[in-house]
Amino acid sequence: MKSQETSLKQTEAGAKEARKATYHTDLKSLTLAQLQEAMIHMGEKPFRGKQMYGWMHQKLARNYEDMTNIPASLKAKCQERYTYTSLHMLQMQESQIDGTKKYLFELADGNLVESVWMKYKHGNSVCISSQVGCRMGCRFCASTLDGLERNLLPSEMLDQIYAITLETGERVSNVVVMGTGEPMDNYENLLQFITLLTDENGLHISQRSITVSTCGIVPRMRELARQKLQITLALSLHAATDEKRKELMPVANRYSLEELIEACAYYFEQTGRRITFEYSLVRGVNDSGKDAEELAALIGSLNCHVNLIPVNPIKERSFVQSGRREVEAFQRKLQQRGINATVRREMGRDIDGACGQLRRRYLQS
Ligand code: SAH
Repeated sequence: MKSQETSLKQTEAGAKEARKATYHTDLKSLTLAQLQEAMIHMGEKPFRGKQMYGWMHQKLARNYEDMTNIPASLKAKCQERYTYTSLHMLQMQESQIDGTKKYLFELADGNLVESVWMKYKHGNSVCISSQVGCRMGCRFCASTLDGLERNLLPSEMLDQIYAITLETGERVSNVVVMGTGEPMDNYENLLQFITLLTDENGLHISQRSITVSTCGIVPRMRELARQKLQITLALSLHAATDEKRKELMPVANRYSLEELIEACAYYFEQTGRRITFEYSLVRGVNDSGKDAEELAALIGSLNCHVNLIPVNPIKERSFVQSGRREVEAFQRKLQQRGINATVRREMGRDIDGACGQLRRRYLQS
């Protein structure tokens, strides 16, 4: 274990670096074309770009030493001009109930991020973080309690998937950007990350196997729609009236439900992809029959799917999970109105499953 002092010093220096870092100076965040261009700039042949890209994104090299057929002179040049990110696994917890694994990773600057690995019948899913902390302030969420520290680079989002692939020895088939952070608040890096993740020279995960979850930053949702990607957009709704949503999510003061629903319709129009609505059920707050009816009226005309999630209580707040009966009644009400609704299985309940809990506990211990 590092001493507190060195860890702090490293964090300060690293944090400075991290704030400066953009994906243009980060080797693993470059597309193949950008990497080939960088090679030419350094007086190298473009095929070196392809080789290095393969090392980083297919063989999942953790450092330059792993790249056995790359000349030392080129590695030195890269080292001088670019950062090379990699994660250090601090903790891994495995659920005894369902095999879900939760990872705590340390970034090069000492910051911490969490990721989750879930095994389903249809394949392995990884839930990644997009930022260190978050500034959206949702009332029930542990990730946002200390605000936003910084954005993650495209490579740092990839690294979570790569580290988990190496640790489990299994292929990841689905990626959900639903961990700590608001992906639309780190939009450029998110798009670059998706480009890299879906590249046939990398892990080649199909766009349809990627879900991005947002609290609803309307202009970015519209911008994303215009990209016409085949990814799934999940919107964290959690309430069916503006008043109620404002109580749970500060972002609702900025964008009305009317604008949000319009943006969802636009996303479907542009991409043909059905929207997923996430709705966390909080006892006595948003789980009544009336709430279900209001929700049905709000989204009834959209091509969508609703994911009901009993809220995961965090100790800093007094929200209580809805009971099984309320959850089932809520689901039935939606289904009766022709709305597709499923109750999300709670994975990893025994291992700090809720967003941001593991990192928080580690930092406080
Ligand atoms: N910022 C993005 C993605 C990260 S949060 C977003 O808001 O969608 C991922 C999902 O978990 C969101 O739907 C969020 O509202 C939900 N969530 C956060 N904390 C939760 C908790 N304690 N219980 C249930 N859902 C929670």
